[in-house]
Amino acid sequence: MSRSSDVGLAWLEESLRSLEARGLRRRLTLVNDRRPGEICLDGRWLRDFSGNDYLGLAFHPESVDAARQALEKQGCGSGGSRIVTGGVPPHAALEQALHRFTHQTCLVFPSGYQANLGVIQSLCQPGDTIFTDENNHASIVDGCRLSGAHCRIYPHGRWDMLEEWLAEPDHGRRWIVTDTVFSMDGSLAPLKHLGRLADAHRAGLIVDEAHAMGILGPGGRGYCADQEVRPLVQMGTFSKGLGSHGAFTSSNDLVADWLINRARSFIYTTALPPAVVGACARSLALCTTSEGDRLRHRVLALADGLRTQLREAGLKPSGDGTPIVSIPFNEPTRASAIQSRLIEAGHLAWAFRPPTVPPGTSRLRISLSASHRRAQVDGLGRALGRALGRALGGAGPRSNHG
Ligand code: PMP
Repeated sequence: MSRSSDVGLAWLEESLRSLEARGLRRRLTLVNDRRPGEICLDGRWLRDFSGNDYLGLAFHPESVDAARQALEKQGCGSGGSRIVTGGVPPHAALEQALHRFTHQTCLVFPSGYQANLGVIQSLCQPGDTIFTDENNHASIVDGCRLSGAHCRIYPHGRWDMLEEWLAEPDHGRRWIVTDTVFSMDGSLAPLKHLGRLADAHRAGLIVDEAHAMGILGPGGRGYCADQEVRPLVQMGTFSKGLGSHGAFTSSNDLVADWLINRARSFIYTTALPPAVVGACARSLALCTTSEGDRLRHRVLALADGLRTQLREAGLKPSGDGTPIVSIPFNEPTRASAIQSRLIEAGHLAWAFRPPTVPPGTSRLRISLSASHRRAQVDGLGRALGRALGRALGGAGPRSNHG
């Protein structure tokens, strides 16, 4: 019998040791249990500011009930790929609901990661040029790599550089790919400007609305709807603001047809299970009601209150207008130390370190949810103040966010 060491795995141990020494080693977190706004780690309940369930829909009774009904009616698994026989009835119903939501043709993907991979790999060809923001999500980076197109990565915020590059003569097709809400700092892309650049330079605009879907725009339709920009392809996830799992693309019929034929991450994978699709459809429906408006207003107000509290203490949180509050700490070890101090105080916010973020930009990322209470958010602010050796007051009582 061969031993794994025969292929020479000592470098793995050395590399892991080196990651450890630089404060960059990752370990799985053992989650014992979860309930709205809270998480149980190592047998201890913590206020959870680490997840992306921004509207608190993961536990919404109507979404849970829709999942249960689809599960009982359609079984545990979809049984195959969408292009074979995995398109169980809830998929068609969800895509019709998405069509009403976006007024475009929509395709449901098993995850946001796969949607970005499939869209970029299938549309962008060798010989094309992709202009991509350095802070775009890893799934965009991987899609760009897989496409074989030439990639030009512009520094975050240097839209002038993008404009200069686009003005250079180029004979291939051109694409601009961007997150609309950047996941690590909650900053917003200048979407109107990017839309104008794409039009002026005949580039295809592909946007990732993972952190905007359900949160921004009328009825939670995303930042494109808010800014009245229509990209060639919009990707939205169900896994964050909609509290479930999976993703969708919205585009014209022609592009949707191409994705069905060429997006490998759509074709060669089993379709989402019926229960998940049932929950997605129900959460999407909730999103467009006054209940959706109330949840959006609540989470954005909680995030605003926390940012005010942090700014008053001289910190520079980012993410205005989104549920993400992010505090930069250049050193990964410092970010991790603050995370540990917060855990001791009963709050979980995540320290993001390279390679998830570029070197020198480690950060504590706090995500708010409509299921948090104002007092919990104030408590987090105060604990953060103690961890940083600064006095942070509460944001004070606010009528509608108790
Ligand atoms: N895009 C962005 C901006 C994301 O933050 C994420 C998830 N963190 C994804 C895509 C991938 O989505 P999913 O988790 O559904 O695969």
